[in-house]
Amino acid sequence: MRLSRYFLPILKETPKEAEIVSHRLMLRAGMIRQQSAGIYSWLPLGLKVLRKIERIVEEEQARAGAIQLLMPTIQSADLWRESGRYDAYGKEMLRITDRHERDMLFGPTNEEMITDIFRGYVRSYKDLPLNLYHIQWKFRDEVRPRFGVMRGREFLMKDAYSFDLDKESARHAYNRMFVAYLRTFARMGLKAIPMKADTGPIGGDMSHEFIILADTGESEVFCDKSLLELPTPAEDTDFSSDLTPIVTEWTTPYAATDEMHDEAAFGALAEDTRVSARGIEVGHIFYFGTKYSDAMGAKVATAEGTEVPVHMGSYGVGVSRLLGALIEANHDENGIVWPKSVAPFHVGLVNLKPGDDLTDPVCEDLYAKFEAAGIEVLYDDTDTRAGAKFATMDLIGLPFQVVAGPRGLKDGLLEVKDRATGEKEMLSPEATLNKLTAALTD
Ligand code: ATP
Ligand code: MG
Repeated sequence: MRLSRYFLPILKETPKEAEIVSHRLMLRAGMIRQQSAGIYSWLPLGLKVLRKIERIVEEEQARAGAIQLLMPTIQSADLWRESGRYDAYGKEMLRITDRHERDMLFGPTNEEMITDIFRGYVRSYKDLPLNLYHIQWKFRDEVRPRFGVMRGREFLMKDAYSFDLDKESARHAYNRMFVAYLRTFARMGLKAIPMKADTGPIGGDMSHEFIILADTGESEVFCDKSLLELPTPAEDTDFSSDLTPIVTEWTTPYAATDEMHDEAAFGALAEDTRVSARGIEVGHIFYFGTKYSDAMGAKVATAEGTEVPVHMGSYGVGVSRLLGALIEANHDENGIVWPKSVAPFHVGLVNLKPGDDLTDPVCEDLYAKFEAAGIEVLYDDTDTRAGAKFATMDLIGLPFQVVAGPRGLKDGLLEVKDRATGEKEMLSPEATLNKLTAALTD
């Protein structure tokens, strides 16, 4: 992409309304624009990152056997009356009346709708297990939308729903998602710690929130230090086998948010293993048994010919919140430092003197070769002063910067900068191509 033809509205001033660094940087880097409290337009650079996050989520959901569909944002109130949640949900639900005076709502979540889809088609235990998910915009009329996309009113969520014959198989479905979540966040370069969450009337131990430690997080969390070092399950983890050992390793050490915190149990840990910190909830998984299938009549026939309500779980990822969380975890005083798996572009190619006989051909050639190698390049071919070009590149945080100036090119050399370490080296165009191709393709 040529910067001269792109839409990258960089802000020079730090927006006053933004209280935390990720929100400030997203506004300054031209990633989002607020349209109303907690409601944002996704500008091209922001949308690119959002899509990359979605792709990782989709790949790991597929690996865990979940199947993607897409449900609408607008739902009928009648479904929610069946489950009893139409009255229970309160003011966070945006309620709408259509021209025929029918009660509709903008979905804050989809348990009712997915249960309706399930009961419409599935009749037999032979069709289980089943896990269906979508990535769709949600609306929750939060009392206090803040921190940009971190707590929006309209936000993008991945929500999966599992259907099983009994609690034991539901536990298996839960464990598969648990492992998928560990892998999903790890692929984004994030250490998300599963913490026990409230299971409400269902009881048991099958609800976890996945939390990223960050000073700006809204949750207060307590955990055992060992969780900061546990390995992420490998790509070749066999999802058909019993995943209990992996899950046990992650769920045995103490970890809880303030709601579930047990001061005595935490206090019993050795002092140097106790971590108390703040965190950002990026995912939440939950087994809720037959709550919705009972209320909405979602039953399947067993092998013995009896009918039983199906056991369900739901599994959310805050896709748009993850952008904020990623920036909270990856920035410095000059801007964002994207991990390569979610970076909007891999390389920023800076032509210090567009129109120059030395810089133009080298940049054009390199640009074409990067693109051919599947490396995404933002080519700054604009007529801007060098200082501003460097500041923009640091702000938007692409993993590598390649700078072509007449002085270096007299000796046939480009400057290659690693955004994360700040290390710079002078390389020939060919060596630049080789180095970055090796660093950016797996
Ligand atoms: P929170 O406690 O932060 O309000 P929640 O427990 O109500 O979240 P869930 O219903 O578990 O949220 O939703 C699944 C995921 O969606 C959460 O883990 C979070 O990452 C994300 N999410 C929830 N509310 C918001 C919001 N207002 N803005 C952005 N992301 C959100
Ligand atoms: Mg939650």
